[in-house]
Order: sequence, then structure tokens, then C-alpha cells
Amino acid sequence: MYDYLIVGSGLFGSTFAHLVAKQGKKCLVIDKRPHLGGNVYCENVEGINIHKYGAHIFHTNNKEVWDFVNGLVPFNRYTNSPVANYHGQLFNLPFNMNTFYQMWGVTTPEEAQAKIEEQKIEAVAKMKAEGITEPRNLEEQGLCLVGKDIFEKLIKEYTEKQWGRPCNELPAFIIKRLPVRFVFDNNYFNDAYQGIPIGGYNKLIDALLNEIDCKTDTDFFKSDYNNWRKYAKQLVYTGPLDEYFDYRYGKLDWRTVSFKTRIEDTPNYQGNAVVNFTSHEKPYTRVIEHKHFEMFGQAIFDCPKTVVSEEYSIEYQEGMEQYYPVNDEKNDKLAERYRSLASQEEDVIFGGRLAEYKYYDMAPIMEKVILMINQN
Ligand code: FAD
Ligand code: UDP
Repeated sequence: MYDYLIVGSGLFGSTFAHLVAKQGKKCLVIDKRPHLGGNVYCENVEGINIHKYGAHIFHTNNKEVWDFVNGLVPFNRYTNSPVANYHGQLFNLPFNMNTFYQMWGVTTPEEAQAKIEEQKIEAVAKMKAEGITEPRNLEEQGLCLVGKDIFEKLIKEYTEKQWGRPCNELPAFIIKRLPVRFVFDNNYFNDAYQGIPIGGYNKLIDALLNEIDCKTDTDFFKSDYNNWRKYAKQLVYTGPLDEYFDYRYGKLDWRTVSFKTRIEDTPNYQGNAVVNFTSHEKPYTRVIEHKHFEMFGQAIFDCPKTVVSEEYSIEYQEGMEQYYPVNDEKNDKLAERYRSLASQEEDVIFGGRLAEYKYYDMAPIMEKVILMINQN
């Protein structure tokens, strides 16, 4: 008899298992995939760790979380600084003095600010005429934040590719988290700490689960573990929220991503881990060159080949991976109804990206589990 049966070995399930095991509890982790680790799992090809379910960069401001993960496996000094390619012209991201220089030739923060003010006049005037003070959608947000040129070259088409709908039908919050800086700083994140586990994410998962009983290729709903009370006192469920309730109120929508991965016979294909293609000219949103997450300097050339993945954002269909919750009004309402059912389930903890129907980065997931366990 286990104390906990944990459905899903992603960061929620594996962090939970690790922490309660330290308190002397017995856990069994099951996962329907043939491997552990959920979406942070990597596959090794040509000596390079491939982020099979999308590029993952760990970043946080929370020192406790940073110390916790570094206590399991040391992290490297990778700093995310994507480059945007618009019809062959390159720009640094996030929007900072380098971008403003590349876009307009301005060399001082004062000139850059003046340029943005000039560029957003039209959008602000239009909003004023309609009696609006706060941007109502992503288009208005983008125009107010960085002006017309950047919106059109670096935001509009990329966002439409990523979300499959026009910018004026998307919520403003999606791009609120992108930094706009009047300094020459290409670091995509504002957080104090970031990096990739040395040796890859599988090392992190191994360290979390090394003393835990685990079963892969085991679907909760298609196995006897569905009768979980036979096996454990409590259930931790990290699978899709609607599936747990057999889609009683209908299905939640998701967006998914598909990857076309290939080996290139060169040690250095694009010179950066992440290149965003911000025009409709290319059907993919980004190209990831995986080795740059973990190899620096001479190590890049000591590994003769490289692996790149084109990333395509597509509408979710049955059987695909459920990557991003669609947090529009319809889905949020539906998720709320399921959450209310979940709150009535006895001895069941619903946690993580799928079970909470919430877009979480890795560090907040771990922070949440740490807090949850510390409180008990
Ligand atoms: P998951 O990792 O999805 O794990 C859930 C597990 O449950 C899966 O292994 C699944 O197989 C299993 N499962 C589901 N149903 C069942 C069932 N019926 N029976 C058994 N097992 C089941 N975060 C960052 O901090 N930085 C990034 O750069 C970043 N990039 C991302 C890029 C993409 C494309 C995506 C989709 C996410 C990204 N994230 C990033 C978020 C990160 O992936 C999540 O925060 C984290 O993986 C969530 O962990 P989880 O345990 O909730 O979910
Ligand atoms: N975005 C953009 N151009 C870019 C990168 C991002 O317009 O080159 C917008 C896009 O709408 C995206 C949002 O900013 O959905 C958030 O980007 P981020 O990279 O943080 O999101 P992720 O791809 O990790 O979900």
C-alpha cells in the first residue's frame, strides 16, 4: 500500500514524489508515456540533448527553487537571447536598445523612446477616440508598447502563426510579459536565475525520482490503477482535468506544437539556440538548434553535427499532445466547472499544467509543490 499514487511524472508529479518521500512517505509514480519527465524529457541524438516536447529554459527569481534544483543537479550559464528573422533581416529580442538600433538606427535611449512615442501616436489616438484607456487586445497592447514598426515586423505575423487568430482577437496579457528595455540587454528574461541542468533535464528528473517506484507505459484510465484506493491512500493527478471527469461537461480546447527535427552536417547551423521567424514567409514560428543550450565555445565544434527543430503551432486535435491551455472566456468557464468538481473529490490532489488547465512555467510548478508540502 502506497501513501500516494501519482499520475504523471512531469515536474509536478516528480517534485511531489521527491519531497514527500523525503518525509518518509511511499509513492508510486505512473506515466502513460514510455519515459519519465513529462514535457522536459530530452532524447539524445548525435551526443546532443533534444528537447523533444519543445525548448525548455529554466528561469526564476525564487532563490529557494533555484537552490533546490541546483542541489539536485548543477545548472549551466545558458542565457536565453533569441534572434528574430524578418524576411532575412535580423533583430535581437526581447525588445531592447539593440532592437531599436537595428530597426531605426537610434543610438541613445532618449532617441529610442522618442521614436516609440511617435510610432504609437496613431494607436493611442484611435483608442482615445473610442473612449478607451487600457489596451483591449494584443494588437493595441503591442502598438502601445513598442509602436507600429516593431509591432508589424516582430509581433503581428509571429503571433498570428503562434495562436492561429488575428492579434485584435487575442488577449493583451499574452505579450505583457515580454520585456521592453532601454538598455543594450538581450536577456529574454528578467529573472535573477536561469540555465539548463548540466547533462540535460533527464538528470533533473532522475535526481527527483531516483528512489521512487515508477511505471511507464501505464495509463491511469486504462489500467487497474484507476481503482486507485486499492493501491494508495491518496491520489495526485496531473493529467488533463476534463479527462478525469470523463468529459462530463464537454472537452477543453488546447493549442499544440509540432516539430520537424533533422540532423545537419555542420557543427553550427544558425549560431543561436532560438531563432524566431516573425513573418508569414516561413510556416514555422521558430527554429531551435539544441546544442547551444548546453555547449559553449570550443565544445560546439568538438561535436561535428547539429540537430535543429522547426516549430509549427497548430490547432489541437484528438490524439495530439496538449501543450497550451486556451484561456479564452469559453474555456475558462468550462475549466471552472471542472475545478469545482475537482474540489469535491476526496483524497485527490489535482496539480500541474494539465490538471489545473493553466499555463505554468517550470519554476512556478516546483515552487507550488514546495509550498504545498511545507504547509503540511
Ligand atoms: P507535464 O510535463 O505535461 O507532465 C504531465 C505528465 O502526465 C505527462 O508525462 C503525461 O504523459 C502524464 N499523464 C497524463 N495523463 C496521464 C494518464 N492518464 N495516465 C498516466 N500518465 C498521464 N517552462 C519553462 O519554465 N521554460 C520554458 O522554456 C518552457 N517552455 C515550454 C515549451 C513548451 C512547448 C511547453 C508546452 C511548455 C513549456 N514550459 C516551459 C512549461 C513546462 O513544460 C511546464 O511547466 C512543466 O512541464 C509542467 O509540468 P507538469 O508536471 O504539470 O506537466
Ligand atoms: N512574441 C512575438 N514575437 C516574438 C516572440 C514572441 O510577437 O518574436 C509574442 C507572441 O504573441 C507570443 C508572446 O509574445 O505568444 C509570448 O512570447 P513567449 O516567447 O514568452 O511565449 P512562449 O512562446 O514561450 O509561449
